[in-house]
Amino acid sequence: MAGEPQTDCLFCKIVTGDVPATIVRETDTTVAFRDINPQAPTHVLVIPRAHYPDAAALAAAAPELAADVLREAGEVAADEKLEAHGYRVVFNTGSGAGQTVFHAHAHVLGGRGLQWPPG
Ligand code: AMP
Ligand code: ZN
Repeated sequence: MAGEPQTDCLFCKIVTGDVPATIVRETDTTVAFRDINPQAPTHVLVIPRAHYPDAAALAAAAPELAADVLREAGEVAADEKLEAHGYRVVFNTGSGAGQTVFHAHAHVLGGRGLQWPPG
């Protein structure tokens, strides 16, 4: 069923604490933690506690939860003092775009210059 935990999902295991992570923010509906392979001085992932395979599925099934993820991305940026210089929020969607974990997540990247267009 949509939103139910998946036993084989890495990020569901971070939500339950079965896999450790460096958590920087938590709400009733979201968890934010540092990416294990950071691509910028600040690289934090924001995930919904509930499992949806990607951002589009999340937004279609639970728009208020998608809004929670976006709001938390902004709170992470504020906590990390990224706002003055700008930051990027990325949802890789599909393996061709680099998605490797199929539990919706926002990458919050900042603390260095960010090229546009992205690679
Ligand atoms: P994506 O490639 O967009 O699906 O993003 C998945 C991200 O999860 C990658 O940037 C990985 O570095 C990150 N990642 C994988 N395993 C872990 C972990 N155990 N803790 C934190 N981040 C992770
Ligand atoms: Zn999951």
